[in-house]
Amino acid sequence: MPQPLLQVKDLVKNFGLKGGILGRTVSEVHAVDEVSFYLNVGETLGLVGESGSGKSTTGRCVLRLIEPTAGEIWFEGKNVTELSGKELAALRRDMQIIFQDPYASLNPRMTVGAIIGEALVIHNLAKNRRELHDRVVELLETVGLGADHMRRYPHEFSGGQRQRIGIARALAVSPKLIVCDEPVSALDVSIQAQVINLLEDLQEQFDLTYLFIAHDLSVVEHISTRVAVMYLGRIVEIASARDLYARPLHPYTEALLSAVPIPAPRAKRERIRLQGEVPNPIHPPTGCHFHTRCPIRQLPLCSTEKPELRKTAEGHSVACHLRG
Ligand code: SF4
Repeated sequence: MPQPLLQVKDLVKNFGLKGGILGRTVSEVHAVDEVSFYLNVGETLGLVGESGSGKSTTGRCVLRLIEPTAGEIWFEGKNVTELSGKELAALRRDMQIIFQDPYASLNPRMTVGAIIGEALVIHNLAKNRRELHDRVVELLETVGLGADHMRRYPHEFSGGQRQRIGIARALAVSPKLIVCDEPVSALDVSIQAQVINLLEDLQEQFDLTYLFIAHDLSVVEHISTRVAVMYLGRIVEIASARDLYARPLHPYTEALLSAVPIPAPRAKRERIRLQGEVPNPIHPPTGCHFHTRCPIRQLPLCSTEKPELRKTAEGHSVACHLRG
């Protein structure tokens, strides 16, 4: 087996909550709780869960945009959590991010040409102004925009076009891995498909690897090689996309999947409506975090014992006492 491009081992991220007049840490949000996964070159791992599941925090820890509390992140054989200085700067070139809200992530006072060219300047990737200009034009064309867009400002573009600008900016430094942090959630459904198709084309063209974060399973179905489902900071199921959609094992995956529309004339799925909201991650439920909403829980087992992520078949693991 070739070495994975990215390997995340037992990643933990807690956020301290300050309180009182002294501003001391009074409690902690357990955002990511011993998360492990790997990504091979050219793969897309869909990371799916409701808000508060820890998926975006996981993506940002991978990029070292936030510091993990514990665990290891290996990228091309280097422990990312131990890098600093030049090595960390080099890593920032290899790993890029595309944000959910393309408008908020683009500086409104910079032209599109300056936004896309910024990383080329920072990383010294253009010898002169001519080369910088040509590379920006090339990037704009790669994402389906034109050279005439260079001198315009972000507010002059539609949501889909702004996301294309965000993608061009990420591509500028020829990354190996891109964390796509809900890149289509803010877009109309018709535009979502265009952006996903573009990401798929770019993946093939540039041999890219994606960690694709989304809050529902319908978005990642076609783009993902494998899918990991997160609930309250933990991965509850991980499998190849084909297995996960055909044979979901975890009751939470089943509930998420029941909300995915199936094109006619295939049989209709019965919608599983979960009771209640996602619990507060400051005080997550004991045992299986999902037991307060699980339609098949068995007490006291599910409320007292944490289910480990167990392999049930090649490439398919689930964290449930009763399934698998
Ligand atoms: Fe439901 Fe228990 Fe399985 Fe958790 S461990 S998903 S509560 S059956």
